[in-house]
Amino acid sequence: MTDGGGPREACGVFGIYAPGEDVARLTFFGLYALQHRGQESAGIATSDGRSFFLSRRMGLVSSAFTEEDLRRLQGFVAIGHTRYSTTGSSIPVNAGPFLVRWGDEAIAVSHNGNLVNGDDLRRELLEAGIPLESTTDTEALAWTILRSTGRDWAERIRTAMARMVGAYSLAILTQDALIGVRDPLGIRPLCLGRLDTGWVIASETCALATIGAEFVREIEPGEIVVIDREGVAAYPDPVPRPEHAMCVFEFIYFARPDSAIMGQRLHVVRQRMGAELWREHPADADLIVPLPDSAVPAAIGYSLASGIPYAEALIKNRYIGRTFIQPDQRLREQGVKLKFNALPEVLEGKRVVLVDDTIVRGTTSRPIVELLRQNGAREVHMRVHSPPIRWPCYLGVDMATRDELIAARLSVEEIGRAIGADSIGYLSLDGLFRAIGLPRQRFCAACLTGRYPVPVPPERLLRRGSRVQELASVRSS
Ligand code: AMP
Repeated sequence: MTDGGGPREACGVFGIYAPGEDVARLTFFGLYALQHRGQESAGIATSDGRSFFLSRRMGLVSSAFTEEDLRRLQGFVAIGHTRYSTTGSSIPVNAGPFLVRWGDEAIAVSHNGNLVNGDDLRRELLEAGIPLESTTDTEALAWTILRSTGRDWAERIRTAMARMVGAYSLAILTQDALIGVRDPLGIRPLCLGRLDTGWVIASETCALATIGAEFVREIEPGEIVVIDREGVAAYPDPVPRPEHAMCVFEFIYFARPDSAIMGQRLHVVRQRMGAELWREHPADADLIVPLPDSAVPAAIGYSLASGIPYAEALIKNRYIGRTFIQPDQRLREQGVKLKFNALPEVLEGKRVVLVDDTIVRGTTSRPIVELLRQNGAREVHMRVHSPPIRWPCYLGVDMATRDELIAARLSVEEIGRAIGADSIGYLSLDGLFRAIGLPRQRFCAACLTGRYPVPVPPERLLRRGSRVQELASVRSS
């Protein structure tokens, strides 16, 4: 059973080809660095050239593998996955990587992204008698690759890519090779790194740094990179495309601040977002306070640009996972209280600018504004370093359905009132792209604009709990 569009896959992927190394353990450390991309389950698959080994479990990387698991994961090539999804699909059988076998062939796949035609592929595979065991797009695309034809893996993957519509950054494990793939629009990041003893691919550069690998380059949109005993072979996208669609939300929130994407260190980009935010929405205030941790760089940028002191006034319990992950609203609200405490000595009598990266449902902002006031803040001015999120993501970031998005229902002023702030200001789309400093046609900003880079099937829009009007407003290019 699918759960209405299949689970979203906003995940972390990792792969390593390094004969002589403990590839499972290095993957384990790589996954630690990608934990922020998915906290629901973690898995590693390895190959020793003859057999595949797979271990995957629900939970955080730290609890998903035992020493015994790591010892059992033999070989010289490995892939790993951290997974994140919505309610309903949080079951062990959906954990990655996926290992699929057909005759005497097998591959394992870690996937970050979301296919918009995943259900069509699944239906075709089921009709062809393929015993799908999960509700994920990943399993469908793994089977599509395994069953496609061509002289070698690169050709077979290229053939399969013609059938796959949407976002996918993949780490694929064959019996003796590691393969990295990015969808032709380059929606999710994927990079290539080098160790003395081999090669690494990862969703983000922070995972390369963690295991001591040197950043080589990004895997390009539409590119297939095959790493085996011959070295690295790159197969670029055969179709030149003037536009790509890197997810702007990776820049705003999702990727770690110490990662670089498209040559931009995200901490620095987010500082610039904060500076732009000050220019567009200044505030008469005494303190700039970030909502930790994701808004820290932008709050620093806002403070540096304005000259208003930066202060830590909210302390986050780092052992409580992202409240966003909690499946229902009551748990999410409780999560906010469990997660933050405030410092009255810092806040007493102060006019505070509260900086956050996004307001999605509005669940976080209201109790935080209240908490700041209860602890002495005289005024609370909300500043958000992205434009309002008005559209759901079908390409790999699970935000919410359209009905749940507060900015799809309320105007900016109404949101300010709803969260109890004295004033509110969002960064404009122009300001956002000024801060990013790269051409807009290289990005997907559908969550902000409603312009999706791939056609989203109408039934998908409806099934995601959105209103019928949304259909009329979605433009595809
Ligand atoms: P909300 O409480 O629903 O308005 O969500 C906004 C908060 O969740 C912000 O503080 C963000 O830092 C965080 N956030 C935004 N998008 C996501 C996401 N896709 N996954 C997890 N957390 C998110």
